Amino acid sequence: MAGIRIRCRAHNQFEAERVFGAGFMEEKREAAQRAAAERGAGTVA
Ligand SMILES: [Zn+2]
Repeated sequence: MAGIRIRCRAHNQFEAERVFGAGFMEEKREAAQRAAAERGAGTVA
């Protein structure tokens, strides 16, 4: 991605939402939350 440079986290996310679209980033966030929830559920051994 030529237009993206690493700045701080907030700017990176802002740039990503502009480039990929807010819906795409929201899906990624939800997927990450799902994965975390599944990991959390499986933590009790
Ligand atoms: Zn910044």
